[in-house]
Amino acid sequence: MAKKQLETVGGGAEGAQASAAIHPRVFQQTVDQADIAISITDVGGNILYVNPAFSRVTGYAADEAAGRNESMLSNKTTPPELYKALWQHISRGEAWSGRLINRRRDGSKYLAELSISPVVDAGGAIVNYLGMHRDITAMHRLECEVKNQKALIESVVDAAPMVIAVLDVDDRVLLDNQEYKKLQADLGMAEPAPMLMTAIRAGLETETVNGRRNSGYAFLDREVRLDLPGGKPPRWFSCSGSRVREDDSGADAFFEGGGRDYLLLVAKEITGLRAEQEKGRVAALQVVMAEEDRVSALRESLSAATFRLEGPLNMMASVVGMLARRNGESDAMAVALAAAMAAGQQALAEWRAMIPAETREPAGAINVNELLRDVLDLSTKRLLASGISVNWKPQAMLPTLQGYPNQLRAMFKALIDNAIEAMSARGWRERDLSVITRAQLGGIDIVIEDSGPGIPAGQQLKVFEPFYTTKREGNRHLGTGLSAAQQVAADHGGTIEIDPAKVGGCRVRVLLPVKRRS
Ligand code: FAD
Repeated sequence: MAKKQLETVGGGAEGAQASAAIHPRVFQQTVDQADIAISITDVGGNILYVNPAFSRVTGYAADEAAGRNESMLSNKTTPPELYKALWQHISRGEAWSGRLINRRRDGSKYLAELSISPVVDAGGAIVNYLGMHRDITAMHRLECEVKNQKALIESVVDAAPMVIAVLDVDDRVLLDNQEYKKLQADLGMAEPAPMLMTAIRAGLETETVNGRRNSGYAFLDREVRLDLPGGKPPRWFSCSGSRVREDDSGADAFFEGGGRDYLLLVAKEITGLRAEQEKGRVAALQVVMAEEDRVSALRESLSAATFRLEGPLNMMASVVGMLARRNGESDAMAVALAAAMAAGQQALAEWRAMIPAETREPAGAINVNELLRDVLDLSTKRLLASGISVNWKPQAMLPTLQGYPNQLRAMFKALIDNAIEAMSARGWRERDLSVITRAQLGGIDIVIEDSGPGIPAGQQLKVFEPFYTTKREGNRHLGTGLSAAQQVAADHGGTIEIDPAKVGGCRVRVLLPVKRRS
């Protein structure tokens, strides 16, 4: 009987061709010796043949199984819908495969992975079913263990009190945790990982590991500052990265190996610690800037005084010349005036020598957001006293700029001071200050915008001239702020301009290139 059925298994045009080359006995031996439980049933699922592997797996000898229904293997715990689907498929002539719970002859249970193929006769009618199954209990246990371990790792990663993300080579996030998602929400849904990585890589660019350039796949405790929009304070992260290798699961790589590298990015928030340090730094900065303010006010007053004294002295020089031409070199008035003029010039020279020299600070890497934040922190008291609301809109990550931090800080301070002053006019109600940064066209664009009375169109260029001021006589300002600011911008290869399109208030735009043209 078994032999007859096996011949049916090998039936069909292709099977007939293939079987012509080998003896039918080979089929018998193949099935007998196959290391998978094989059974052949009639159309009702009644067993006609089982191979030795079937007996090994189920515990039923061939003669015990013959004539019984395959349902003898059912543990009665497999959902009935599964059997229904099984029979629907195979009775339509379709193969079916699935997993079900079987019971051995000794009553022990195992998980079976079963495939059933209908066997049809020459007329296409189903005559038998061929069942093949294996005990996959151990494999299933392993799968479960892997799944459980994955779930465990995921829940630990998810609950970890630090930002964790796995990135591919293009900084695309493949996996992240709750802290990462929270940070993303704080950044207005911008992806934090590329921002962090851009800042980290900027620092790694010049670094070498064992004489080779750092690949960017291994770094430890890199500090990164993220500036958040909406007046929120900046946040600091200590970032570490390590390489995660994934083996290629494709068939091609089975023997040859291969795989992909990923980066495990862990960012621990250190804002609390840094905020304390920042407080101290800003306080120290306040002292330094106050001193610089004092010195520059002195320089400003002395420069203005010499500038103003030069006028009368020049006038005296022309009078001396005129008198000498008219009355001769010995004219008493000309001699007296010349002596007075010489004394005046002497005094002027001494005056000039008293002007404190500008100290050239060393250039360094600058985070413009940090610098502006410093200036806003330093101006907090004045802003509050004037009832000015600040709209601080930094781009979360800006490229680093090479420049003179004190000069730039003083420049932004002067611009913000101007804005505060403009809006502090008695009776002026609109008091909004916006400070916006963004990276663009190889540079950093900084916009400082106030809702004050603005600068009339005719004066928008004039205000950059030294000693020009729109403020009334008696004001302590001498009008060197904007010309000095323009000088600082120029020293950084940048520009500063008043936006003529701004209606209602004043918009000053500073553009600083990241890489200066040599
Ligand atoms: P049953 O009363 O046998 O049937 C349950 C449901 O199955 C019914 O409601 C009906 O929808 C469907 N059904 C049963 N017989 C037929 C039929 N002849 N035609 C159409 N629908 C039908 N079961 C296992 O549990 N383990 C196995 O390893 C296994 N191997 C099999 C191998 C082959 C080749 C075949 C053909 C079947 C196999 N079966 C196996 C299925 C088995 O025959 C039973 O259907 C199943 O075990 C359920 O048995 P039961 O006594 O719980 O319910």
